[in-house]
Amino acid sequence: MNSYPPKIVIEEQGLRDGLQTEKPFMPTDKKLEIIGVVADAGIKRIQVTSFVHPKLVPQMADAEEICKGLDWSRDVLYSGLVLNTKGLERAANAGLRHVAASISASDTHSRKNANASLPQARQRIAEMIKTGKENGLVIRGGLQCVFGCRFEGRIDPNVVFDMIKEQLDLGIDEVALADSTGMANPISIQEISGKVIELSEDKPVFLHLHDTEGKGLANALAAMQIGVAHFDTAFGGTGGCPFIKGASGNISTEDMVFMSEQMGIDTGIDIDKIAAISRSLEQYFSKQFSGKMHRVIDRQDIQVVR
Ligand code: ZN
Repeated sequence: MNSYPPKIVIEEQGLRDGLQTEKPFMPTDKKLEIIGVVADAGIKRIQVTSFVHPKLVPQMADAEEICKGLDWSRDVLYSGLVLNTKGLERAANAGLRHVAASISASDTHSRKNANASLPQARQRIAEMIKTGKENGLVIRGGLQCVFGCRFEGRIDPNVVFDMIKEQLDLGIDEVALADSTGMANPISIQEISGKVIELSEDKPVFLHLHDTEGKGLANALAAMQIGVAHFDTAFGGTGGCPFIKGASGNISTEDMVFMSEQMGIDTGIDIDKIAAISRSLEQYFSKQFSGKMHRVIDRQDIQVVR
């Protein structure tokens, strides 16, 4: 018998993973407006930006300005993605109290994307965690390409467990497993997440799922069956790593909320408000996102970005 969690926590990634590959550059005040609506919709965790080199990801060039414009009076956790110590220091200086630090579990992906071999990347995240703790930050550690890599294929789960254990020993507060390429399947999700939950004891384990191969929600469902209750999602199913070919689309916030609520799993999220963001952004960027529910529940009376 499956035992689903009574409620799940969703971290909205649309502002970072969702927007990072979109052109043209969206003005900072528009992004802040969207962050406000995401919070209005009841989402309690928002990844607002990433601290990467603006030449590599121009859409994230306003990371500091975004942090300056956040409404800190709200009961929302704002987080930023950091991929090296410099980025982590920028996040701390910008006033963030929570960061997501992440490296790849695939040596080839790490070399191509982050210019670091796996041992170098492990050293890099150890330094990030150390610096983060010195700055009093809450740190979500984690790995990319956990469930497969376009260059290497399957990733040895023992390497994943070993790297997660190392990060836990260094003192991360939360764990994130990313299926950056969408190559996971419900069985591998259960095998790997189950073991990582054991290793993490009482620390939350987030799954960051991409729908590249159409298995996104199936993987989320399989994860909930073994007790995973923390998920990254992005409005409209936006997103995709700019450095992984074909890695389009996170699981959509609306689709995940809708399915969960239908199953009696509480999310605390107002799906109409999130769907309105997705439809506004489809107009703004003149494209269709891969999620479903933002089109199905089309309430034209809610407008976000014009
Ligand atoms: Zn992603």
